[in-house]
Amino acid sequence: MHSALSIAGSDPTGGAGLQADLQVFRHFGVHAAAVPTALTIQDGSHVQRVLPVFPSVVLEQLRTTLSAVRPHAIKIGMLASDDVVRNVLLALAPLDPAVPVVIDPVLASSDGTPLLEKRAYGSLRDLAHGRRLLTPNWPEMEILVSADLPRKRDAEAAARELLDELVLDALLLKGGHREDDADDLFVTREGAGGGASVCEWLPGERLPGPPVHGTGCALSAAIAALLARGEGLREAVLSARAYVRRGIEQAHALANGARVLDFA
Ligand code: PLP
Repeated sequence: MHSALSIAGSDPTGGAGLQADLQVFRHFGVHAAAVPTALTIQDGSHVQRVLPVFPSVVLEQLRTTLSAVRPHAIKIGMLASDDVVRNVLLALAPLDPAVPVVIDPVLASSDGTPLLEKRAYGSLRDLAHGRRLLTPNWPEMEILVSADLPRKRDAEAAARELLDELVLDALLLKGGHREDDADDLFVTREGAGGGASVCEWLPGERLPGPPVHGTGCALSAAIAALLARGEGLREAVLSARAYVRRGIEQAHALANGARVLDFA
C-alpha cells in the first residue's frame, strides 16, 4: 500500500491540520502517517493557543517514522516555531530526493492568529528549497516575497522568481483570498530537466456561504496523497482542487456553527 506522511499541527476539532490530513489520506486510499508539530486550542473559527511540540521530539518522531513507514510522499503544514522548522529540516536531510514533498507554508489562521513565529520565515525558505511543490495562499505569498501583489501579472513575476530562488519544481498560488476572482496560479517548469518556468491560471470559483475551515490543509494533503500514488504533479493538483471543491459544497457545520469540509 502507498503511504503518505503529514508533518503538521493538531486541530482537535478535526477540521484542519493533522486530523484533516489523515482523513484526506484515507479518502485517497493511502496509508496515513502523521507527526504533530504543535498542539492548538481552537474551536474551528478562532485559535486560542499554540503550543509547539518539543523540537527534539519532532526530530526523534520523524527519524523513527521515516524509517518505519518510508512514505511515498510528504505533506508539511503548520510548524509553529523556528526550532521545529530546523528540526524538520534536519530530519529530512537523508530523505531520498525522489520522495515528493508538498509544503503548505502556513503562517496564520483565518482569524489572524500566527501559526508560525516570524523569525522562522528564513528557515521555512530553507526547508522549501528544492522541494516538489509550495502552496501559499495570496497573503502568504506576499509575505514570502515581501511585496504586495495587486495584479495577476505581479503574482506571475513573483511566483517565477520564488520558483527559481527556492529551486522548486512547482508553485501553486491559491487565489481564494483575492477580491476580483478566485483563480489559482500554477507555475511549473518546462520539461523534466527543470527548464524555464511556465505559468497557468486555473479557474476558480468562489462558492457561496460562510468560510470553510481547513481548505488549504486538505488541498496540500490531497496533492501529497495523489503524488504518493504515483500521479503526475499537474494531474494531482487538478484532482485535489476538484476534491476540495466538492468538500466545500458538501461542508457541514459543527455544533458551534464553524463549517468544516466533507472529507468523504
Ligand atoms: N489549525 C491548524 C493546525 C492548521 O494547520 C491550520 C491551517 O493550516 C489552521 C488551524 C487554520 O485553518 P483556517 O485557515 O481554516 O483557520
